[in-house]
Amino acid sequence: MPEAATEPGLPFRILPRLTDRNRHFWTGGEAGELRFLRCQSCGYYIHPPTPVCPRCHSKELAPEAVSGRATLFTYTVNHQNWMPGPELPYIVAIVAIPEQDDLRLTTNLVEMSPEECVIGMPLEVTFEHHEDVWIPLFRPAQ
Ligand SMILES: [Zn+2]
Repeated sequence: MPEAATEPGLPFRILPRLTDRNRHFWTGGEAGELRFLRCQSCGYYIHPPTPVCPRCHSKELAPEAVSGRATLFTYTVNHQNWMPGPELPYIVAIVAIPEQDDLRLTTNLVEMSPEECVIGMPLEVTFEHHEDVWIPLFRPAQ
């Protein structure tokens, strides 16, 4: 059993395995930062992480924090318990990260009901801490 893990009251989540390539993304929340890999040659944000920039083929990539703001691109509401997870119903969303046109993230929306979802609404990141992972989730912008 891993120690010190998930705070009580949090839903069960299947956690990602951390690697040198994705650690920045899953642990940025410890510092309150949403981090993406960014090409140091052309400035392109890369998600999910790849070893080479898809735009300029540079291998000079480094994690950088973005603002944590987003807008709701699309969503679906899950009413079915396919596996242990958050309380039903929950919202699976793709959010658009404003720092780059094609930078999007699949996530869950929290602190809101499905009825409150409006495409394009402003959101902000919040993190759910489980063991060695800080899962980026989004809620309505305060
Ligand atoms: Zn590049």
